[in-house]
Amino acid sequence: MEQAVEANKRPIVFSLDLEDHLGLYEAEGRFARNMEKILDFLEDSGIRGTIFTVGRIAQSHPGLVRKVVERGHELGCHSWQHTPLDREERSAFTAETRLAKELLEQVSGAAVSGFRAPIFSLVPSSLWTLDVLGELGFTYSSSIMPMASPLYGFPGAPATPFRWPGGLVEFPCPLARLGRFRIPYLGGIYLRYSPEFLTRQCIRRTTPAAMLWTYIHPYDFDSAEPFTRMPGTSLPTSILLWLNRRNTFEKIKFLFRNRPAIRFQDAMSGVAGYRELPVFDPERHQLVH
Ligand SMILES: [Zn+2]
Repeated sequence: MEQAVEANKRPIVFSLDLEDHLGLYEAEGRFARNMEKILDFLEDSGIRGTIFTVGRIAQSHPGLVRKVVERGHELGCHSWQHTPLDREERSAFTAETRLAKELLEQVSGAAVSGFRAPIFSLVPSSLWTLDVLGELGFTYSSSIMPMASPLYGFPGAPATPFRWPGGLVEFPCPLARLGRFRIPYLGGIYLRYSPEFLTRQCIRRTTPAAMLWTYIHPYDFDSAEPFTRMPGTSLPTSILLWLNRRNTFEKIKFLFRNRPAIRFQDAMSGVAGYRELPVFDPERHQLVH
C-alpha cells in the first residue's frame, strides 16, 4: 500500500509531439486546430510540459509555436519534417536539424535544448546523429525505446536516464513489465487503450529510477477526424490509430490528477543529479562510469 502511494506521487513529464500526422502542414490543418484545443485544456488543467515540434511548423504556423511558449511549455525539436533517423544522410540531417532548431528559437524567442527522434528512430544504425545533435547544442534527447520492437527499438539500452559517450543526456521511453511483455504504456495508443487501473498498475511496475513521460500527438485527441489512412502505416495500424480517441483528455486528466506535471527542462535542472548520470557505451552494451 505504501508503495502505491509513492507511485502516485511520482512526477510525470507531459510531453507531446507536435507534427502533422498527414504530413501536409497546411495553415488550416487539423493538427493546428487540435493543438489550440489541447493548449487550452492544458492551461485549464494546470499542466505544463515539453512540446517537441517539427521544424516545418515554425515556418507554417509561427503563431502556434509562440503560443506554446507563452503558455509556459518548453519547446523541443522533433526534427525538420519527421523523417526517421535511419533514413537520414549526414549532411542533409545536419542542415535540416540546424534549420529546425534555429527557426523554432527565432520564432518563439526561447532556447531549444531537447530533441526527440521521429518514431523512436534513434537505434544502433543511427547513432551517428548523436554527434550532430551535440554539435548543434542539444543537451538532452528522449528518442529511444529500450526494447526490441517491430518498428524502432534499442534492445539492450538502459531503461533509466543515462549519458551517451558524447555527453548528451538520454531519457529512455518508460516501460512496464507485464508478464513476458514490456509496454510503453504512457504514450499513443498504449495510453489510449489501457483502462485507468492498468495504467496505474504499470506506473507501479516501472523501475523507480526511470523518468516517467508521456508521448502523445494532436491526433490522439481528435475523435471527430474522419477515417484517414495515415501515411506510412498499414491499414490495420491506421484503424488502430483512429479508434478510441474519445477519452484522451480524460486520460490525461486522470494521469495528472494527483501527480505533478513537469517539463524535461525541470528534470534537467532539478535536483535529480542528472549531471552525474552513468555513461552508456553502445558498442559494449554497458554502462560505464
Ligand atoms: Zn512524431
